[in-house]
Amino acid sequence: MSDVDHLPARPTWECKSCITDWPCDQARRALVDEHVADKVALAMLMWTYLEDFAMDAGPGPLSGAWDRFLGWTRS
Ligand SMILES: [Zn+2]
Repeated sequence: MSDVDHLPARPTWECKSCITDWPCDQARRALVDEHVADKVALAMLMWTYLEDFAMDAGPGPLSGAWDRFLGWTRS
């Protein structure tokens, strides 16, 4: 990943660089660049991140988590 600083800080899942919800715009661009030939692999990777996010968040609703971690990989 070219933007190595745009990584998630756990358990808050804020970008270590932007201090916004991860994946930030820069992280998404870098992830798309890395997986330009295999969008299924990108979705599978983001599903893994979503699972980690859910484990850190604990029980309760995860409103917006699907869009945040997976929805954008389909566009
Ligand atoms: Zn960032």
